Amino acid sequence: MGTNFASWGSGQMYAQAAKYGVIGGLTSVITGGNFQEGFSIGAAGYLYNDYAHMGGGGPKFPGLSTVNDKLTGTIPVDCSGSTDQCGAVMSRLAQTAQDNGFDIQFRPATRWEMFRDILSETTLDIKFFPEAPLVDGDFKGGEGGGGVMNLFGDRWNTDASATVAHELMHNLGLGHNDFVGSLMYPMTYSYTRDTLLPKEAQELTKAYGTH
Ligand SMILES: [Zn+2]
Repeated sequence: MGTNFASWGSGQMYAQAAKYGVIGGLTSVITGGNFQEGFSIGAAGYLYNDYAHMGGGGPKFPGLSTVNDKLTGTIPVDCSGSTDQCGAVMSRLAQTAQDNGFDIQFRPATRWEMFRDILSETTLDIKFFPEAPLVDGDFKGGEGGGGVMNLFGDRWNTDASATVAHELMHNLGLGHNDFVGSLMYPMTYSYTRDTLLPKEAQELTKAYGTH
């Protein structure tokens, strides 16, 4: 996403990302800040289908299915706790879906859907927190899974942040991977794209084709 690495080939990107990863403590100086997202564990492309894994992945939203090899459907979004930021996050969600070749629409949840959500995970609940907490020296940008997306601070709404995309993928069911600089690596950087690795996209598509 964004233009930060538009001129980089993917090989270069990973090499550069790996270098930053090795440098570790200096990363924030180079990239202007890490945003650690934590709470989630998972191998590359690993799908959690267990609702209990908050942060490790989320439900298969009942409104989604795979149609003609495309993840398709509608996700109702409940950000009633902070409606002024809802538009911005909804457009980020839509952009992420489009960038990944999904045919997913996002719309505000109805009252009935919000009620039903208490009984089973059917909406994506988004909550905003003013402060980005420091975790092990890095700012935590968000957390997600199990139908919940918590966003900290305001960096999620900058061009250089892949936080919303990352947390959405947890909610769709993906865990973390080990590829520094890729979307599902536990840390996001200014050059992190909002697109999945091909293997991850394939596994998601496959998972929603089998319910
Ligand atoms: Zn994560």
